[in-house]
Amino acid sequence: MTAFVTRFAPSPTGLLHLGHAFSALTASAAARKAGGRFLLRIENIDQGRCRPEFEAAILEDLAWLGLDWETPVRRQSDHFPDYDAALSRLIEKDVVYRCFKTRKEVLDEIARAPHIGRDGPEGPLYIGAPLAALEERNLLAEGAPFAWRLSMAKARDALGPLFADLSFVEQDIDGAATARVRATPEIFGDAVIARKDSGTSYHLASVHDDALAGVTHVIRGEDLRAAAHLHALLQALLGLPAPAYRHHPLIADETGKRLAKRDKAATLHALRESGASAGDVRRRLGFTD
Ligand code: GLU
Repeated sequence: MTAFVTRFAPSPTGLLHLGHAFSALTASAAARKAGGRFLLRIENIDQGRCRPEFEAAILEDLAWLGLDWETPVRRQSDHFPDYDAALSRLIEKDVVYRCFKTRKEVLDEIARAPHIGRDGPEGPLYIGAPLAALEERNLLAEGAPFAWRLSMAKARDALGPLFADLSFVEQDIDGAATARVRATPEIFGDAVIARKDSGTSYHLASVHDDALAGVTHVIRGEDLRAAAHLHALLQALLGLPAPAYRHHPLIADETGKRLAKRDKAATLHALRESGASAGDVRRRLGFTD
């Protein structure tokens, strides 16, 4: 049997709810069915929003649900130098540029350039350019904060004809159907690849860590379906292997609205407190064994 490695990669910014439970159970069941491995990764690069108590609650809730995973668990905040090194490779390839603009300045600039005023998966689409060398040197000397953006134009130049051929494998949730999807990372515009505050981004850290762990199947909610387009580009630029993707439907509340961290009643913690068993939760989510 070919190796099968998947993972659940929550961010400890709140308590896990039924949607997270569904995601973790889906990934774990897929690994079991394939005789593969199930990993857990704590995506806590956003140190302003992530909390150790939520991280502890994640481990407790997943164990209560009956899941087990390999140890040690990778905690992204312990590995910032890895993400710096990945960013350095992109800098060497000259496909990223420093962006000193505030969010407001970016939005104002977009408003003045309505021809690119579409929305991408992460909000209004921004296409910028590096500053002139002298201006940049002055800002750096002042210690002005900056993010790194991936230049779609430069990525296209760097990859040449490969850019138009970028693709990724998308499977249905039980892996029965497989399609090759053409990747169109330009839907992101010049995505922020290293944030001002953390020096990396979800995209860079996640792509790096999936490759490092040998993840063969990325299983996650369909809210992240578009991200695969950008991830395919990062994999090509960084020379990383490309996993297959399975994006599962999101769990909704009784009104059909997608669950969010603020829906306290749907947290595993609240369900447990109200007397539900792990078996009840698993059955409610369609997992019968
Ligand atoms: N950390 C992301 C989240 O909690 C998941 C990322 C992924 O599975 O690729 O939404």
